[in-house]
Amino acid sequence: MALFQISEPGQSPAPHERRYAVGIDLGTTNSLVACLRNGVAETLPDESGRHLLPSVVHYRSNGKEPVVGYEAVAVAHEDPLNTIASVKRLMGRGIEDVRQLGKSLPYEFIRGDTAMLRLRTVVGERTPVEISAEILKKLKARASESLSAEITDAVITVPAYFDDAQRQATKDAARLAGLTVLRLLNEPTAAAIAYGLDKNPQGVYAVYDLGGGTFDISLLRLNRGIFEVIATAGDSALGGDDMDHAIAEWIMQQANIADDADHRQMRRLLRDARVAKEALTRSERVSLNIDCGKGNSWQGELSRDRLNALIDSLIDRTLSPSRRALRDAGVTTREVDGVVLVGGATRIPRVREKVAQFFGREPLADIDPDKVVALGAALQADILIGNKREEEMLLLDVIPLSLGIEIMGGMVEKIIRRNTTIPVSKSQNFTTFKDGQTALLIHVLQGERELVSDCRSLARFELRGIPPMTAGAARIRVTFQIDADGLLSVSAQEQTTGVASSVVVKPSYGLTDSEIERMLRESIMHASADDVVRKLREQQIDADRLMEAVRAALAADSALLEAKERSDIEDGLKKLEAMRNGEDAEAIKQAIKSLDQTTQTFAQRRMDENIRKALAGHKLEEFDAARDKTP
Ligand code: ADP
Ligand code: MG
Repeated sequence: MALFQISEPGQSPAPHERRYAVGIDLGTTNSLVACLRNGVAETLPDESGRHLLPSVVHYRSNGKEPVVGYEAVAVAHEDPLNTIASVKRLMGRGIEDVRQLGKSLPYEFIRGDTAMLRLRTVVGERTPVEISAEILKKLKARASESLSAEITDAVITVPAYFDDAQRQATKDAARLAGLTVLRLLNEPTAAAIAYGLDKNPQGVYAVYDLGGGTFDISLLRLNRGIFEVIATAGDSALGGDDMDHAIAEWIMQQANIADDADHRQMRRLLRDARVAKEALTRSERVSLNIDCGKGNSWQGELSRDRLNALIDSLIDRTLSPSRRALRDAGVTTREVDGVVLVGGATRIPRVREKVAQFFGREPLADIDPDKVVALGAALQADILIGNKREEEMLLLDVIPLSLGIEIMGGMVEKIIRRNTTIPVSKSQNFTTFKDGQTALLIHVLQGERELVSDCRSLARFELRGIPPMTAGAARIRVTFQIDADGLLSVSAQEQTTGVASSVVVKPSYGLTDSEIERMLRESIMHASADDVVRKLREQQIDADRLMEAVRAALAADSALLEAKERSDIEDGLKKLEAMRNGEDAEAIKQAIKSLDQTTQTFAQRRMDENIRKALAGHKLEEFDAARDKTP
């Protein structure tokens, strides 16, 4: 008889049976890979013991594989056009978005046949997705090497504000690198998990993330083990790099280096500035030895006080997004139960000081702020791969801008509001506008404003095959669904017949943060103007609907009217039409009311006539019997 193998309860399966899944922090400046080993999350180092992998890819003219990380950084100043840094900023973006990023990026961009942008390199054109995939491949190889197993499953973190296109681009890069994405996880949520905050019964947490080139603030609400991102804000052009620039400028002044320093010298200066900045986190002062070019050099000193004076205004710039996020979330700093520090630049003592001051409490900073996101992702990956099924967590994120569809009059009906947590599914019923309308165009939009022209178009699709019915009789249920990765699909179904149509919204490129900011700002600024326009459009639609119905009735049943009655109705129609084309919502409303009254007798007569026709040839009892059956 065969014996069934039974393992002791609670014991982990044999080591070779354990499945590994890694957590990856795919950062703008640095990336990391982490994994759970013996119950402890740890980041995995390269063969030289370095945990960070600079997110930099260098394409070589000799046709060999590109180099990634420190090696690429080392050659960046010799071959800047073929050395791509900060590719995360380009993910899911179109060429127009990138133009807005300014001249800070030295690369040669190409508009391809699709909206996705490409960069020209010595080995040919490359998309941001392909470049990111090189970073992911490197991390995958590192993990497979460290764990002596082929690693394919990963949780990859993304900023909480990443839109559909940016998330999709990240997933595409992973697929290209041979990774299976278990889930895209929001960076702040990952950091909160790393601190084990999910073990608390409840709370509100702020995650303050100051990296190399970006600042993000997120507010999370924990409730029964579930994190909800309740607000996000930030500055996509603020980080440690700006501090490097401030220090480099100060050095140039001190050392009398002319403003027109060449590209190479600038890169060297920035590197020196960065080294000094990082050293000042541990020491009170550092000595500088600067190569001024042409065989000259300058010796000097930078103190921590001086550094603080140089960077104070930069740190202060993180506070207004922080205030905005608190306002959006509707919480005060006193209601925040913990502040998590993320990002290399939060190592700077002055940053910690100012954050502590702002929130009125010491931030959590025991875990290395460079690694905290990757560590949280590794914990989540381990749960998702099934090593700890009973603790399965559901992690919730928010959408940054409202989503809706176009309705009559060029207006937007919002179906999912901004800052709603995902995954989410919401439905709303709509109807047809014209008698006998058999198709419906569904136009999906993103934004806070009332008018279609002020929002961003995401997709259009048609629902065909609606059976002809009178206007307003069809019931079309439109459903918006956003999955855990933040990808949107929209479907529409006519309820009586079940005819359905759907679309997965994968915009070819996304919005920039500054666009999101602008759209939000405009929606607030225009709120009352939009309201006036909305009221006008609503009245115009009502007017159109009534005129259409009256004209149809006149065409069908004018025989039921006396000449005088008929001309009264026609006058009312003319008046309403004139008002409808004006700007006065109240006047339209009055004209509608008046035409409605003028046509009441006519409507009554038509109804009687229809009933008379319907009854003809039937016995009254038949109707009584039928009535008994209807509820
Ligand atoms: P990202 O999330 O953008 O990939 P990181 O979180 O890795 O970026 O942060 C990189 C930034 O952190 C750089 O500007 C780097 O100079 C800065 N940084 C790293 N270590 C220190 C330190 N010890 N002191 C000050 N700044 C540091
Ligand atoms: Mg980061």
